[in-house]
Amino acid sequence: MTYQNYSLKQLQQIDAAHHLHPFTDHKELREIGSRIITRADGPFIYDSEGTEILDGMAGLWCVNVGYGRNELADAAYRQMKELPYYNSFFKCSTPTPVLLSRRLAEIAPKGVSQVFYGSSGSEANDTALRLVRHYWALMGKPEKNRIISRKNAYHGSTVAGTSLGGMDAMHKQLGGAVPNIVHVMMPYAYELALPGESDHDFGLRAAKAVEDAIVEAGQENVAAFIGEPIMGAGGVKIPPASYWPEVQRICRKYDVLLMLDEVITGYGRTGEWFAADYYGIQPDTITTAKALTSGYQPLSALLVGERVAATLVEKGGEFYHGYTYSGHPVACAVALANLDIIAREGLVERVKTDTGPYFAKALQERIAGHDLVGEVRSVGLMGAIEIVKDKATKERFLPAGSAAVTVRDHAIANNMMLRATGDTMILSPPLIWTRDTIDMACERIAKALDLAKNDLRKA
Ligand code: PMP
Repeated sequence: MTYQNYSLKQLQQIDAAHHLHPFTDHKELREIGSRIITRADGPFIYDSEGTEILDGMAGLWCVNVGYGRNELADAAYRQMKELPYYNSFFKCSTPTPVLLSRRLAEIAPKGVSQVFYGSSGSEANDTALRLVRHYWALMGKPEKNRIISRKNAYHGSTVAGTSLGGMDAMHKQLGGAVPNIVHVMMPYAYELALPGESDHDFGLRAAKAVEDAIVEAGQENVAAFIGEPIMGAGGVKIPPASYWPEVQRICRKYDVLLMLDEVITGYGRTGEWFAADYYGIQPDTITTAKALTSGYQPLSALLVGERVAATLVEKGGEFYHGYTYSGHPVACAVALANLDIIAREGLVERVKTDTGPYFAKALQERIAGHDLVGEVRSVGLMGAIEIVKDKATKERFLPAGSAAVTVRDHAIANNMMLRATGDTMILSPPLIWTRDTIDMACERIAKALDLAKNDLRKA
């Protein structure tokens, strides 16, 4: 029986009776009922009532090649018929993860050449945490195991992902984090720069917080620093240009590994294959997932730099870690086909030279001037709109986060899917967006802002 035999009401009732959703207030959802998305094509998603919605979030930052790609379905179908599953444990492998690993080594930033697979970004970060601690143990320095992260970082929802992340609300529900992870300030100039402080100086000050944490712990106790090149779920927080080169310099000075979480920024979002290349830095590990398959299959790849990988090989000894689906043959087949599409259609280059700059200009010219907007910012096809009560003082509406939800709800009602995080609206569309799609999005967002302004001024 297919879902077409059910009415929206029925699906909502069954959903409410049996389905616990991620990051959801279940009491609230039961009162409202889920929107049921039933199909998608190109840049659009469609709900059960046939409403066409422009997807400004590429699903959840992942559908970079857009929807309806038969090529990816065919790749999965062929692989499933030939070999739906075999593991990579016990000295075995299957062809698709082998070939995907070489492919990833070709596009990865310099010095990154080996890959460890999982099924999600959270799993990849678990692997990364365990791997860097294992590395230092192999080097005869097991006490060098502290990880420095940032406040408000998002690194996933597993225990390790939540511990690495810096979201207070998540930590409160954790009941005990993985030990020896500390969080320093984030490089978010809009709220944290001092009056009169330049972006450049603020970036250096935010990087200095990493150095301070290393010095405080003693460099002999610090394994690594981890960060999203651009904080995603935390609100598309784009660091000043001075930040990452300085963080890298500090990590090298104190012999601390640099771990990048590119679960969102990987595979073209910034206009480079990886944000490491956008910022010109050479990390020791890069966590990737999402757009590796454009979300068509669950797959993550931890890209491992030569320093760590070579040590694993030289020192030997088993790394007691892995997942049933590490290197899943179907997911890897889809990833290979997905990377082919991105390369063949020149999507990364297009973001860099055409749609990225056009997106930035459109946000500046058509959204930034609105009364409710304190700031717009973007890199490639990843953008944010800050919602404020007062542009000059940056005062927010109360209660915190409510204004952005009002804007978001109007946007969705106007067939524009975007996300609200705190008081920030977030955009991270498929890389297939054209100038026309960007125009359409800006029109719908501007309308949503106008409608929200009426509501908020009344309240
Ligand atoms: N890291 C970052 C930067 C992410 O944005 C996310 C997911 N949004 C994750 C890790 C976790 O990935 P997953 O949900 O696939 O576990």
